[in-house]
Amino acid sequence: MPKTLCAEIIANGDEITSGKVLDTNSQYLSLELADLGVSTLWHTAVGDDLNAMVEVLRIAMSRADLIIWTGGLGPTADDLTRQAFADAAGVPLVKNEESLRQIEDLFKRRGWTMPAANNVQSYLPEGALPIRNPNGTAPGIDFTVKRSPHTVRLLAFPGVPAELKEMWNGSGRNLAGKMIESVNGRKQVIKFRAIHSFGLGESQVEAKLPDIVNRKHVPKVGITATGGTITLRIAAEAPTEAECDRMIEPTAKLIYDALGGLIFGEGTDTLPDVVCRMLKTKGKTIAAAEAGTRGLLSQSLAQSKESQDVFIGGIVVPPATPVSPEKMIDLAKKTLDTDYLLLIGAYPAGEPNRIRSDETFTAVVDARKYHSPKDLQASILKIQNYPFTGHPAIIDDLYIKRVLDLLRKIVYDPQKPFSP
Ligand code: ATP
Repeated sequence: MPKTLCAEIIANGDEITSGKVLDTNSQYLSLELADLGVSTLWHTAVGDDLNAMVEVLRIAMSRADLIIWTGGLGPTADDLTRQAFADAAGVPLVKNEESLRQIEDLFKRRGWTMPAANNVQSYLPEGALPIRNPNGTAPGIDFTVKRSPHTVRLLAFPGVPAELKEMWNGSGRNLAGKMIESVNGRKQVIKFRAIHSFGLGESQVEAKLPDIVNRKHVPKVGITATGGTITLRIAAEAPTEAECDRMIEPTAKLIYDALGGLIFGEGTDTLPDVVCRMLKTKGKTIAAAEAGTRGLLSQSLAQSKESQDVFIGGIVVPPATPVSPEKMIDLAKKTLDTDYLLLIGAYPAGEPNRIRSDETFTAVVDARKYHSPKDLQASILKIQNYPFTGHPAIIDDLYIKRVLDLLRKIVYDPQKPFSP
């Protein structure tokens, strides 16, 4: 048996196992449980098949302390959750008057007559309690199964995400919280801090770090790579948020000391967000002039929630058009009154063989210093040719991040690594 309290989340429905509907309920519940200090060790999905449902329940009951189940609580023949719970615990289904009253009440409030089919929803496994569903016909189930020496708490909610969330916030969270406190003896909180870096690969980042990405390290540190962004995720578990923060801080410092300026942000920060925020603190504006990208850089900047009043617009030169930096700056300056100009020259968008780095330049230009082509050298703050390397699925994303990171290095202030 597990020593600390652990949870399993089970999503039920043919729609889930067939891939037609993405199981977002389990994601939601895992995040909620983490907030309550419980680790979810298993996510299970099971179709609308009674034997399979009973089987996964029995397995879950043998290993988890808390099982949260979603789906299959409707009134139709394929809604088998009530029966599966009863069968897995070896008890009969019995009519629950309180549950019936809740269902009748919902129909009354809506001015409808309750169809006989909905009667079935008032049946619960013997010993279980209904969980009120304020805006749906399917009550949830709160069922404690004693299996010496192990007691399992099962909570079932409807599959409809809006109903699940309403019921979880209305009562589920509280029920789970109380159970967690009674088992753990005290409340636990799990807190995460995600630190993002750009510019080196996952293994290179790991090589720069002290030995913190190992299973024994407390707090836990995980490393993930998404489109060239390498994220270090610190997870701490303690009775209070403040204690979690105290545990996280020294590890975060180790990461900052090892990676320095490679770190561009934390939490929900993206590179465009951070670059725009830095420019905003300096009161500067940015515009894009890009060739062959069909607007990828402008799109990335425009989509940032921080780009209002910072990113003023861009010009886009069609693919395969010969351009020089001077020509692009001249074009941009005709319409865009900006402090910085970010250039991408001759990007080989959509070409099967994207090895054209010789002809491609990326530059950050001080647009205020440029008045005519003779000012070109003096106005270029940084110029770089990046190779078109990376998986085809992320190559555009990666290239745009490289360009934004070039700008970040210019506006970077070590005192305010990614600005307030
Ligand atoms: P109802 O009384 O509405 O039938 P129910 O508990 O039987 O409720 P399901 O029939 O299993 O719920 O699911 C209803 C709908 O909710 C599904 O068609 C699907 O769109 C959505 N849904 C179900 N499970 C999930 C899930 N795990 N993640 C996201 N959406 C889900």
